[in-house]
Amino acid sequence: MHEFSVMSEIVKSILEEANKRHATRVEEVDLQIGEYTMLGEEQMRFSYEVLAKDTILQGSKLNISQVNGRIRCKCGFEGEVSPPEDSLHKVVPMRECPKCAEVAEIIEGRECIIRNIRMVVPDV
Ligand SMILES: [Zn+2]
Repeated sequence: MHEFSVMSEIVKSILEEANKRHATRVEEVDLQIGEYTMLGEEQMRFSYEVLAKDTILQGSKLNISQVNGRIRCKCGFEGEVSPPEDSLHKVVPMRECPKCAEVAEIIEGRECIIRNIRMVVPDV
């Protein structure tokens, strides 16, 4: 499962951050997932639960926000490709240029970013 390996990297960096700050617990994590990462939100949540078990992440809240992708085409078009309304198609975001129908270059939306980590740090 693609999501599991991505999430294990994410959990690793969260734990690293938490360790650096001597956190005793992580309460909340905000994650931003680009549209073109092809990562399923449900699978990401499931992987998180599994990986968080028996760590200071256990029981924390995971917030996932989706980020729209942007493409750039040879014809000069640059921007978001509005996904079709039905959820079936949203799983595979469009890469075709809306102007000339060529397959365009993805310039945004391929990344998976940890936006925020709320953790409990003991007062020293
Ligand atoms: Zn084009």
